[in-house]
Amino acid sequence: MLSDQELLRYSRQILLPQIDIDGQLRLKQARALIVGLGGLGSPVALYLAAAGVGELHLADFDTVDMTNLQRQVLHDSTQVGRSKVDSAITRLSALNPQVRLVAHRQALDVDSLAAVLQQVDLVLDCCDNFTTREAVNAACVAAGKPLVSGAAIRLEGQLSVFDPRRDDSPCYHCLYGHGSEAELTCSEAGVAGPLVGLVGSLQALEALKLLAGFGEPLVGRLLLIDALSTRFRELRVKRDPQCPVCGARHG
Ligand SMILES: [Zn+2]
Repeated sequence: MLSDQELLRYSRQILLPQIDIDGQLRLKQARALIVGLGGLGSPVALYLAAAGVGELHLADFDTVDMTNLQRQVLHDSTQVGRSKVDSAITRLSALNPQVRLVAHRQALDVDSLAAVLQQVDLVLDCCDNFTTREAVNAACVAAGKPLVSGAAIRLEGQLSVFDPRRDDSPCYHCLYGHGSEAELTCSEAGVAGPLVGLVGSLQALEALKLLAGFGEPLVGRLLLIDALSTRFRELRVKRDPQCPVCGARHG
């Protein structure tokens, strides 16, 4: 059941026939893991908390740095030097005290990832490195949990949803596992703040669709965003039957 306060707080999205009270109840019962509380994780955490997702698991081992504040809008100048998880809890609990927040302040390894995935319905990859992305993907495939993946660097963004519950869905490794491009970081290459805000907002929207059960998720499609010319392109992406991560699950 939803209280009068909840009906009021979420009224503008409950008005959407695709969400309605049933969808809001599904969001209230939903649990999501956010890996990385940086530029992508900021809008993801803010919008999912604002929308009333019942439980958010917040994973980040880093502390807030002054150079983060140009794009990581979850944090502010008073939080510099504090852990990003603690900074996020301060902001998110003020935004919506009804959401349960679960802190994961250590880097997640294979074992801890597997344990956390047993406690959530969906994962949002908002991290900034290939190693973590691969580990998160493998854990999602093993646990059968959908993964909303976003990335942004310089003035380019990418977004896709991988859902191991669907036979036709590729996984992250199907798409990126063969890449040999040297890994770039935002600290070396730079990134535009509103671009990570855009990609993170789209990740939050895909998560709400999956958790509340409406719309068509971005599965089997890769969205490419060129911020310089403001162009969006979409590529079809297929599952790789030889993929060492998700191939075996289909026999
Ligand atoms: Zn795969």
